[in-house]
Amino acid sequence: MSFRPERVGGALALRGAERKRPAARRSRASERFLKISERISRAPESGTVKLSQIARDLKATGREVFELGEGEPDFDTPPHVVEAAHKAALQGQTRYTSVAGTPELRAAAVEKLRIENSLQCGPASVVVGTGAKQLIFNALLATLDPGDEVVIPAPYWVSYPGMVRIADGTPVIVAGEVAAGFKLRPEALASAIGPRTRWVILNSPGNPSGAVYSIEELAALAEVVRGHPGVCVISDDIYEKIVFGQARFATMAEAAPDLMDRILTVNGVSKSHAMTGWRIGYAAGPPDLIAAMVKLQGQSTTNASSVGQAAALAALTGPQDFLASWRDAYERRRGLVDSILSEIPGLSLSRPDGAFYHFVNCGELLGATAPDGTALEDDTGFCGHLLDVAGVAVVPGSEFGTPGHFRLCFAKSDDLLERACLRIRDVVSQLC
Ligand code: PLP
Repeated sequence: MSFRPERVGGALALRGAERKRPAARRSRASERFLKISERISRAPESGTVKLSQIARDLKATGREVFELGEGEPDFDTPPHVVEAAHKAALQGQTRYTSVAGTPELRAAAVEKLRIENSLQCGPASVVVGTGAKQLIFNALLATLDPGDEVVIPAPYWVSYPGMVRIADGTPVIVAGEVAAGFKLRPEALASAIGPRTRWVILNSPGNPSGAVYSIEELAALAEVVRGHPGVCVISDDIYEKIVFGQARFATMAEAAPDLMDRILTVNGVSKSHAMTGWRIGYAAGPPDLIAAMVKLQGQSTTNASSVGQAAALAALTGPQDFLASWRDAYERRRGLVDSILSEIPGLSLSRPDGAFYHFVNCGELLGATAPDGTALEDDTGFCGHLLDVAGVAVVPGSEFGTPGHFRLCFAKSDDLLERACLRIRDVVSQLC
C-alpha cells in the first residue's frame, strides 16, 4: 500500500499544475492520468498479430507480401452457414441470447461432443463464447489467484502465457523435445507440477508444432494428473478436424473419462469451418467451472453474437462432407511446402500430423550475414529479413517459446505457397 499516497499525491499535483498550462501542453499532461494496469503491462503483445500488422502495412505501400504468418483457413465459410446466419438475422435473431449461449447451439455442442468425442455431458456443462480464445481466457480468469501456476508445453500457442499472466497466474513452460515430436512427456509433466499448479494446457493438433497426441499418450498424461487432485486440464481441440495420414484425433476427456470433473474441453468453428471472423467457440467442463465462466461472461461480453451462434449451429448440424476435401487440400499443401523447404540447406522440418503449420528449424542459419552486411542473430532477425527482402511473413519461433524456428501457415493457395517458398530459398542462398 505504500505506493498509494504517492500516486494520489502525484495526480493531485498534476491537476494543480494543469490549470496554469496552455491547452496543447494540457492534453499531454492529461495522458499521465491514464495509468495502464500492472496486469496489462506484464502481458506481451501478441506476436502474430503484430507481425500481421507489419505485413499489412507493407502491402499498403504496394509491396507484394506473402502472408504466411496468420493462422486461418483460406477457404470461404460454407454457403449454407452464411445462409443460416442471414435467415436468422431476418427472422429477428438479433437480440441478446442467454449468456451461456442459445439452447439450440449448446444442445448441438452436447451432441457433437457425445457422438464425435465420447464425451457425456448436459447443457449445464457447456458454455458458448466469442471464440475458443475467450473461453480459455475466461476459464483462467475464473480460476486463478496470484501465484497459481499453469503448465504450458512449448512450443505453445502465443496467447496462453499472456492470458495466464493477465489472470495473475504464473506460466510454467516445459520445453518441448524434437525427439518427442514436441509432445509433452509424462515425466516432464510430473516434474513441472508443483503445489500451486492449477492447470495444464494441452493443444492437439498443436499450434505451432502440428503434433497430435494419440489416445494412449493422453492416457499416460492423465495418469500423472490423476495423482494431483488439484490439477485440471484445458484440452484445446480447436484443430480437431485437421489431422493427416495415420494420425487420429483424441481428446483428454475421452482418454480419461474418470477425470471429467477436472477437464475443460475447448473447441469451436473457427478453424474447422473457416469461421475465424464469426467468433464462436464452445467449452464443456464441470458445471461449477462453467457457471463461474458464465458469471464472468455475464459481466463482460454478455453473450457471443446471436447471428454468429446461428451460423455455428448450422456449421455443427449441417453437412460435414466438405471437411474431408479441405483436409486433403491442407495435406497436399503440407507436402508442397515440405518438398521445397526440406531441400534448403540450413533449414530442417518434420511433417506435422495436424493443424496447418510447418514449424521450421532455422537454427543453423542464425549468425549468418545477409548481402547488405546485416547479421541475422536470432529467429526474429531472420524472419524480419525474410519479410524485408522477400516479402514473406512468417512468425519467429521465440513467440512460441521455442527460439531458432519459424512458423509458416500453409492454409494458403498452392501457387502462393510455392512462390513464397522459392523466395525463402533465394534469400537463404544469399546468406553467408
Ligand atoms: N487455440 C489455438 C491453439 C489457436 O491456434 C487459436 C487461434 O489461432 C485459438 C485457440 C483461437 O480460436 P478462436 O478463433 O475460436 O478464438
